[in-house]
Amino acid sequence: MTEGTRIYENVGRQFNKAADLMNLDPNIRKILEKPMNEIEVNFPAIMDDGRVEMFTAYRIQHNNILGPFKGGLRFHQSVDINEVRALATWMTWKTAIADLPFGGAKGGIQFDPKHYSKTEVEKITRRFTFALGNNIGPEFDIPAPDMNTNAQIMAWILDTYISTVRPHERQRSYHVVTGKPVDLGGSVGRDKATGQGVAFLIQRWAEDTGLDLKDATYFVQGYGNVGSWAARLMKELGAMLVAVEDASGAIANHAGIDPDELLEHTTAIKMRAARATDSMLVDGMVRDYPKAEQIEHETFLATEADIFIPAALENQITGETAPLINVKLVAEGANGPTDTDGDAILQERNIHVIPDILCNSGGVIVSYFEWLQNRRSEFWDLEEVDRKLHKILMKSYGRVKDKSEEIPTDWRTAAYIIALARLEAVYQGRGIFP
Ligand code: NAD
Repeated sequence: MTEGTRIYENVGRQFNKAADLMNLDPNIRKILEKPMNEIEVNFPAIMDDGRVEMFTAYRIQHNNILGPFKGGLRFHQSVDINEVRALATWMTWKTAIADLPFGGAKGGIQFDPKHYSKTEVEKITRRFTFALGNNIGPEFDIPAPDMNTNAQIMAWILDTYISTVRPHERQRSYHVVTGKPVDLGGSVGRDKATGQGVAFLIQRWAEDTGLDLKDATYFVQGYGNVGSWAARLMKELGAMLVAVEDASGAIANHAGIDPDELLEHTTAIKMRAARATDSMLVDGMVRDYPKAEQIEHETFLATEADIFIPAALENQITGETAPLINVKLVAEGANGPTDTDGDAILQERNIHVIPDILCNSGGVIVSYFEWLQNRRSEFWDLEEVDRKLHKILMKSYGRVKDKSEEIPTDWRTAAYIIALARLEAVYQGRGIFP
C-alpha cells in the first residue's frame, strides 16, 4: 500500500465518522465520497542536456457545489493519485468551513524538483499548465502553492495560461492562480498567510485555555513556508521555539532557538546550494544550525513542550508515534499530519488538536482575498488582509468549538460536520440534475 493510499483511507475514516454522527443525507454522502473529476496527464519536457523526460501529474477536482475548484499544486516524488485525492477532499471541507465561495481541488507533479535546474522546473511547470488547458481557469479551477511550489512557479502558470487564452481575456484572467508574486497581482500577506493563521488560532486557543504564551514552548516540523512563518509569528507572541525538524534532520535547544536566525541560516544554505547546482528549490537544512544540537527523529517527536506544530508531511502522528507526543496542543499546519489511530491516542491522552482543515486554512482564505482583488482590480494593504483573515478564522474557530461542545465530539469531527452540513444544505436546496 502506498503512503498516498494510507492517507486517502484516513480521509475516508474521518468522513465516515462525521457523516455517521450527523446522519448526513445518504444520497449526498454518496456524492461527496468521490471526487467529481480526476485528470491524469503524462507529458514530455526537454531537459538541459537535450533528453526528453516523461512526467506524470494529476489535478483532482473534488467538488465545486460551493464555487470554483480551489487548491494547491505540489511537486514531490511521492505524489500519487490517492494522495492528491485526499488533499483535494480536504480542500472541499476547508473552504466550506471558512464559508468561502470555493470548492476543493489539488494537483501534483510526481518528481523531485530539487534534482532539476531552474530552467527544467520552468519547462515542466509550463508544459503541465499547457496540458491542463481549460481544465483550470479563473472561474473554474484555481491552483496555488503547496509543498515545493512557490510564487515563481505560480507566475509561470499565470504566464502560460494567459498566453493560451484569447487576447481580450488576458487582462481578466490573472486570478487563474493565487500565491503569485505581489508585482504580478499577488496579495500582500499571502506568503505568510498559512503560518499567520496557525499563529492566530494558537493565540485564541491559549486565551481560551489560560496558557500564557510568554511562558510557552513550541516545536515545529518543517521549516518551509508554513513552518518558518508559524515559528517566527509564534516568537512575536512571546513563545520559545525549542526544536525543529526538516528533511535534513532534527535539532533542539531547550534554552531556545531564534526562528529568525534559523531562517537566515537555512536561507544562506539554500542560496549557496542554488548557485552551485542551478536548482531553484533546494531544501533549507536546519541540521547544521550551530546553536542547537542534532537529535534523532523519535527524540524530536517526544520533545517536551506546550505546542507542537507539524508543518511538513502527512501521517506523522500515528498509532506508533502518538504515544511519544508530549504537548498540550497539536496545531496542524500541514495537511493530514495525524491519522485516525494517532487522533484516538491524542484524545485519550488529553492532547488537544486544532485540525488541519481549520488550522491551515489561512492560506486558502488569503488566496480568496487575492482572487477577489484581481477580479475587482483592487489592492488591499497588509493591515486589511490580516484583519479580514483574523475575522474569518475567529468565526470558524468559534463554530468548530461550539459544535464540538454541542455534539460533543473532537474538533476534527466537529469541523467536518460544519463543512458537511453546509454542503448538504446546498445540495438539498439545488437538487440533483436532471
Ligand atoms: P514547503 O515545501 O515550503 O516546506 C516543506 C518543509 O517540510 C521543508 O522544510 C522540508 O524540509 C520539510 N520536510 C520534507 N520532508 C520532511 C521529513 N521527512 N521530515 C521533516 N520535514 C520534512 O511546503 P509548505 O508550503 O510549507 O507546506 C507544508 C505543509 O503545509 C504541507 O502539508 C502543505 O500541504 C501544507 N499547507 C501549505 C499551505 C501553503 O500555503 N503553503 C497551505 C495549507 C497547507
